Amino acid sequence: MRGVKEIIGTNRLEENLGLSKPIKLRVAIIGAGVSGLCSALFLRRLGHDVTVFEKDKSIKNEGAGIQITSNGLHILEKLDLCELVVQAGLKPNNLCLYDEDGFRRIGSLELLNGLKHRYGRSFIALHRPLLIKILFQKVKSEKIKVKFGSRALPLKTRDEKNVSISYKGEEIKKDLIVVADGVSSGWKKTIFTEIKTRSISQAAYRFLLNKRNLPPIFSHNNINLFFGRGRHFVTYPTGNKDMINFVFCKREKSYLVNDWKEKVTKQQFFKDFELNDCLRICLSNVKTVYRWPIIESGLPSAIHKKNVVLVGDAAHGMLPYLAQGANKALEDSWELAKYIKTYPLDLNKSLKKYSEKRIKRIKKLDKVSRLNEKVYHLEQRVIRAVFLFFLSCMITLAPKAFFKRFDWIYSYKG
Ligand SMILES: Cc1cc2nc3c(=O)[nH]c(=O)nc-3n(C[C@H](O)[C@H](O)[C@H](O)COP(=O)(O)OP(=O)(O)OC[C@H]3O[C@@H](n4cnc5c(N)ncnc54)[C@H](O)[C@@H]3O)c2cc1C
Repeated sequence: MRGVKEIIGTNRLEENLGLSKPIKLRVAIIGAGVSGLCSALFLRRLGHDVTVFEKDKSIKNEGAGIQITSNGLHILEKLDLCELVVQAGLKPNNLCLYDEDGFRRIGSLELLNGLKHRYGRSFIALHRPLLIKILFQKVKSEKIKVKFGSRALPLKTRDEKNVSISYKGEEIKKDLIVVADGVSSGWKKTIFTEIKTRSISQAAYRFLLNKRNLPPIFSHNNINLFFGRGRHFVTYPTGNKDMINFVFCKREKSYLVNDWKEKVTKQQFFKDFELNDCLRICLSNVKTVYRWPIIESGLPSAIHKKNVVLVGDAAHGMLPYLAQGANKALEDSWELAKYIKTYPLDLNKSLKKYSEKRIKRIKKLDKVSRLNEKVYHLEQRVIRAVFLFFLSCMITLAPKAFFKRFDWIYSYKG
């Protein structure tokens, strides 16, 4: 590990005032997902005393493909993990767009060199458990304490000044609690009661298939996006054992269990999606289909309160139609550490600045993912036809303009 001094640098305020060393914070991180593990690493690097609490007995092996864009890779670079993640994943060549009706090709955009040239980093698709494993190895090598196997819950103290943790029947006090407990955050529900969850309106069905058993349209090293009526689906390689990830999304009104492990039968999936014969044949080898609700948070006005701060999906769970969930989590953990480093003597100020900055970005990301939801799920025949024609012209005539709209996301370097 690099020396604390080297990472924190010399603080000008301290120099000017002749103050002592920055305060060493006792930090708890709730949740060992992407945002929790990264926050632990960044805060440890600042010299703080960090403990991670994870409710499960070990690091999770669940989940499938996850997408890391240039903004996320720039953050991983700061942890010296970018190369490892790139090697663990795959760099798709193109983004290919299709109309699900008749598998008509709308057009394709070059990703491999195009994005690298534009943003300095490629686009990576990888197996989520691999990303978690890489982060966890790093956490272990930095000797950060991790407590597995029990939920860490919020406990409001009598003086109401700070929140402490209830863990295995004990009260644990910390200077800072970084809440990284995911989209259904129990901490958010208890402490940030003003932030509402939007009602579930989308469902995702996900499965993996080996590329050997698939027609070339799916087995090439591309991301494929199929626009259907009131639904869409995406396929992409995960970089893990030649497996291709399939994710089908549609609007859903009925209640779904919020569980990454909920399985439905192949027959149920075929029925729910009313798949045509062609797709049924292509997907006949499907064995296990996972289904989960897509949960969105309401927009927060602040993501800090007392000594508690939210990161990742706990701060804001948004529709996944911009593939920014993990990237936003990476950005959050970096920005939090950055502000704590900037105001080492004033934790409140650092949390306030972090919160203000992230909320601005969260709102913009939320708006684009909601817009994507609308265009991915168009139902009306004429409107769909006009939209797909417009998209096809844009991709063919002005591919750069397509990405230009996303520059503010992908060119973020932290
Ligand atoms: C099992 C799983 C599988 C996933 N699979 C995919 C996928 O295939 N594709 C995709 O795009 N995204 C997937 N995601 C979501 C994706 O990881 C997140 O959107 C993104 O990475 C942001 O992560 P996060 O760290 O904020 O939250 P999460 O990744 O949700 O991590 C939250 C962590 O907090 C832990 N936790 C919750 N409550 C407590 C508590 N009270 N005390 C202690 N620990 C607690 C959870 O067990 C979990 O490990 C998955 C998430 C999970 C948890």
